[in-house]
Parts: sequence; C-alpha cells; structure tokens
Amino acid sequence: MIIKPKVRGFICTNAHPGGCAKNVAEQIDYVRSQNLDGETGAPKNVLVVGSSTGYGLASRITAAYGFNANTLGVFFEKPPTEKRTGTAGFYNSAAFEARAREDDLYAKSINGDAFSHACKQRAIELIKQDMGSVDLVVYSLASPRRTDPETGITHVSTLKPIGEAYTAKNLNTDTQIVGEITVEPANEEEIANTIKVMGGEDWALWMKALSEAGVLSEGAKTVAYTYIGDQLTKPVYGHATIGRAKEHLDETAQMLRDSLAVEATVSVLKAVVTQSSSAIPVMPLYLSILFKHMKEEGTHEGCIEQLARLFSECIYAQQPRIDDENRFRVDELEMRRDLQASVEEVWPQVTTENLHALSDFAGYQAEFLKLFGFARSDVDYDAEIAPMVDNAFIDLA
Ligand code: NAD
Repeated sequence: MIIKPKVRGFICTNAHPGGCAKNVAEQIDYVRSQNLDGETGAPKNVLVVGSSTGYGLASRITAAYGFNANTLGVFFEKPPTEKRTGTAGFYNSAAFEARAREDDLYAKSINGDAFSHACKQRAIELIKQDMGSVDLVVYSLASPRRTDPETGITHVSTLKPIGEAYTAKNLNTDTQIVGEITVEPANEEEIANTIKVMGGEDWALWMKALSEAGVLSEGAKTVAYTYIGDQLTKPVYGHATIGRAKEHLDETAQMLRDSLAVEATVSVLKAVVTQSSSAIPVMPLYLSILFKHMKEEGTHEGCIEQLARLFSECIYAQQPRIDDENRFRVDELEMRRDLQASVEEVWPQVTTENLHALSDFAGYQAEFLKLFGFARSDVDYDAEIAPMVDNAFIDLA
C-alpha cells in the first residue's frame, strides 16, 4: 500500500507505520543521549495509562530508555486491516514493543478502554504476574468521551468557555485562513460531563484498584498531566470546561495523597502539538506563534524533551520545581512573562496574508503530520509498505 496523509479538518485519518516507527526511534535516541539520572531513585516498574501517543508515549519511552524501567502500557487504538491503516498510536506502540524486545526491556501493552473495570483488572493481573508491583503510575489519558463503568452512561466532554461566550482569533489549519471563532458558554451539564471525562475520577479509580489489589510498591508515585497557560489560552483552557476538569484533577491529587499511601502529583506540561491539542480552538495559532519565538531563542521543546525534564528535574529530583499548589512544573520556559508578552504582541497583528512571516505555521503543520508518521525526510512516501504490523498487545478493544 502507498500511504499518504488524509487530513480532514484537525484530524488525519490514516498513519504511516514506517514513519511512526522512526518517530519512536528518534524519541528513544533523544532520551538515551540525555544520560538521565534520578537523584532520589529511579522508576523500575511503570504503568502508563494513555501510553501510545503524545505525552503518554514520551513518558513510557523516558521510563524505559532513560531509566531501564519495565513498562506496561494501556491505550485505545485501532488496528490496521489489509485495506486500512491502523492509528498512529497502534503503530507507535508496536514499534516501541518491538524495539524493547530487541533491547531486553520488559514491555507489554493492553489495547482497550482504560475507563472500564475489565481493563483495570487485566492490568492488575499482568502486574501481579510479571512485575509484582508498580512504583510509578503515569496517567496520561485524553479522550473526548468516557463511559462510566458503574452507570453505563457515556459522558461527552466539550471545549467551551465558562460564564460568557468568547470570540477569539482562530486559524483554520485546513484553509490557512485566519478568522474569528465565537464559542457559546457551556451549561452546567456540559461542565459536569467534561469533569466526568477529563477530571480525576478515573485516575482515582485506577489508583484505588491498584492499591486494593496490593500492586502498588511502598512509596509509589503517580502523576497526571495538566496545562495552565496564560492570557491567550485562558478563554479556551484555563477559564473553560477543560480548565474546570483540570481543577478536579488537582483536587483528586490531594485526595489520593490523603487517602492512599501514594505520592500523587499533578504535573504541568507545556503546550505541544498532539492529536488532542490540535482539536482545541485557538491552540494551533497560539502554538504556531509560540514555536517561532521559542525556536528563535533556542528553547523549543516537544513531548520527549518535556518528559525527560519532568522525570529528572521533578519526579526523581531532590528539589523538584513545584508550585504553591503542589504541582510539578516543567512549563516554565513557555510561561516566562517576557516570552508571553512577545506572543501577545504578535497575536493581534496576524492575518491570513502574514501568517507565515509572523508565525511558524510551517513548523506546526510539519509537527502535526509527524504525529501520524508523515512529513519525515527519511521516509519514502512513494514506496509500498504493508499496513499490518506484528504486535503482542492484549486486545480488549
Ligand atoms: P494524546 O491524544 O496524544 O494521547 C491520548 C492517549 O490516551 C492515547 O494514548 C490514547 O490511546 C489514550 N486514550 C484515549 N482514550 C482512551 C481510552 N478510553 N482507553 C485507553 N486509552 C485511551 O494526548 P496528549 O495531548 O498527550 O494528552 C495527555 C495528557 O496531557 C492529557 O491529560 C492532556 O490534558 C495533558 N496535556 C497536554 C498538553 C498538550 O499541549 N497536548 C499540554 C499539557 C498537558
């Protein structure tokens, strides 16, 4: 099969197995080059929930290739058929497992709905059987919907402001037209549903299930990820439904610290291009301007750079960078006031005509395509490649 990108709006409906494998290899090389060292220990047995793309994949790679950890990954991805490619996360995970096998690193994966009881139970069985216990649990799920395992009700999250409608500058990444977007405020039900999906309830269910099954090591750590952002992203993130869900995540961390013997910490990461962030209005234009500035000053980072720093400068550091709400921070380069001020200065000036001069939209677009294994100079996209890949995933999907 010849595989070229099929982009529809803010999603790409196919993926290139060869490109995805190269992306994984590149992240492995990066982590190895960093010679990471934990001042207060190192992860040995790690569970990553949401391990196939974005920040979760980078977490898994950092644990395995930065610290030699055994990893169990959980994700929800579509397998390929002879006629259709699988999702990028499927290919990333197959490539990661194949590489880990070559390198004698334990790596198993469950492809299933992490929100379900069955998935949690299967993970617990595997931990018991192969690892005994886990000392780090990374919770990196991003999903538009969640079926509550108790009620069977499926909740759908929304990306809407709270209180008032907002009108903001927005880039249509398909047409490359800079226009405006108006989003009406969320009602109470939409806020509650977003908290159900993206808040901390499922993180807590995972941690309680692991604790009750006796598969958490003594002094086990757990992290879940959040974004805070500044003025430009406030109407779509901080002061919006997703921000409210993330407040619930903060409350959950506190509850987990109080009720279970675990070090639960929300970690604040920078804005990057992932399948989830590209769906948030305003984000693609914000990221395009941000990238231009951060690349110019040499501080640009993607998922793997962020995760390598999160592990070495926060999770396993003697003096972690922590804020007054007990959150680890590795977003400090993005949040610098002078940098944000430069992005805010450019923001009102950007138009369709000057988009490429004032922002790094080309860089944004290349990173977006790369998520799916495309836009790599070392892959021949005119060559035939089989969509099917070997894998040993435990299939609960
Ligand atoms: P992503 O879309 O790249 O990854 C989501 C992961 O969740 C994938 O592995 C996917 O398979 C898995 N998943 C989704 N639904 C699932 C289900 N039902 N069962 C099992 N697995 C499922 O997302 P991301 O951007 O890496 O986000 C991960 C976390 O990081 C989120 O909490 C997000 O809010 C946070 N974060 C993201 C950014 C950003 O800019 N992207 C910034 C800061 C924090």
